[in-house]
Amino acid sequence: MSDPGPQGLTSDGDGTRAVRAGLPEPVKYEPTLPGPVFAAHFHLPGEPTGPYTYGRDENPTWTLLERAVGELEAPGEDGVETLVFASGMAAISSVLFSRLRSGDAVVLPGDGYQALPLVRAQLEAYDIEVRTAPTGGDAQLDVLDGAKLLWIETPSNPGLDVCDIRRLASEAHARGALVAVDNTLATPLGQRPLELGADFSVASGTKQLTGHGDLLLGYVTGRDAEAMSAVRRWRKIVGAIPGPMEAWLAHRSLATLHLRVERQSANALAVAEALRDWPEELGVRYPGLPADPSYAIASRQMRGFGCVVSFTLPTRARAERFLDTLRLVDDATSFGGVRSTAERRGRWGGDAVPEGFIRMSVGAEDPEDLVADVLRALDASAG
Ligand SMILES: *Cc1c(COP(=O)(O)O)cnc(C)c1O
Repeated sequence: MSDPGPQGLTSDGDGTRAVRAGLPEPVKYEPTLPGPVFAAHFHLPGEPTGPYTYGRDENPTWTLLERAVGELEAPGEDGVETLVFASGMAAISSVLFSRLRSGDAVVLPGDGYQALPLVRAQLEAYDIEVRTAPTGGDAQLDVLDGAKLLWIETPSNPGLDVCDIRRLASEAHARGALVAVDNTLATPLGQRPLELGADFSVASGTKQLTGHGDLLLGYVTGRDAEAMSAVRRWRKIVGAIPGPMEAWLAHRSLATLHLRVERQSANALAVAEALRDWPEELGVRYPGLPADPSYAIASRQMRGFGCVVSFTLPTRARAERFLDTLRLVDDATSFGGVRSTAERRGRWGGDAVPEGFIRMSVGAEDPEDLVADVLRALDASAG
C-alpha cells in the first residue's frame, strides 16, 4: 500500500475528497453539513469587521461551499481562493468586467458558450477589443499579442474541441496576459486548470457540478490575490450572489460528484461507441473516443472526458423525429444532470452547427437501457 499523503489519501483521492469537501470539523450534536444560513444581516455590535456582516458580502453557507470547490479545483494548494456566484454567467462576467478596461484587448473562443457573443457586444460597448479564434488547434495563440486576458473553454461547448491549456497558458503568461479556463463541462474532477497553469478556473455550477438540474450557480477559483479581490469587489457591486438554499443544495450535491462523474463518463463513452458503430456516418464527437480529434490532448490534460456527446443527423426533420422517439432522454437544454437530455442545438441559433446537430448529455441511467433507447430512436426515425 502506498503512503497516505497529507490528506490521508492513498488513492488519487477524488472520491474521498468529493464526499468530504468543505465539511467543518466535527462538533458534537452538530450536523455533518450545517444547514443553510438564511440571513440578510448578522448581529454586529461595535466596529463592523467580518467575517459576517451583511448578506451580500459573505454568508457561512457560501464559505463552506467555497472551501469545498477550492479543495476540488486545487487540492493541497495554499493561497487559492474560491468565490461563488448566482450563476455561471455571473462568475464569467465578474472576471471579464473586473479585469478589463477600455482600450484593453481580450481573446475569447469563437466556438464557446452561446452567451459569449452577448458578452462580446457588451465588452465592445466599453471600448474593449475582443478577438476570437477557434478552440481546436490552439488557434487562440495566433491572436494573443498584446491581450490582457485569454479566455479558454475546453472542451468547447457544444463542438467538443479541446485545446492545450498548459501550452496556451505559458504563451499567454510570456506575453503578460492572465488566463481563465471555463471548466464547466469537465468539472474539477475531470480537469484542474490551475495545475495546468491557468490563473482562474471559472464554471457554471448549474451543470454537472451539482447535477440535478434544480439550481443555478457559478464560481471563480483563482490564485492571484489581487485579481481575486477585484472579482470579490465585482460580486459585491453587482450583487450576483447565490441564495443560501442554492449554495447548500450545491454543497450537498458535491458529495455524489465523483459517483456521478464516473458513471456518466462511462455511460457517455458507451453511447458514443454505439453511435460510432451505427451504419450511418453521424460525425460523433466525444473526447474519450480514441479516434476523436480531441483525444490526444484530452487524454493528457483531462482526468475524465465528460458526459456530453454530439453527433449530426442528416436533416432537421430526422433530428426532431429522433428526439420525439426517445423515451429515456428528455428533450431539454443544459447538460450534466443525472437524467439524460438531448436537444437539436440549431433551434437556438447562435451556435455554428448543422440543422441536424444533436447535443446529448448522458445521465446516470443503466448504460444498456440508454444505448438501446438511442439505437431504437435512430432506427425508428430513419426513412
Ligand atoms: C451553462 C454554461 C455557462 C453559463 O452558466 P449559467 O449557470 O447558465 O449562467 C457558461 N459556460 C458553459 C460552458 C456553460 O455550459
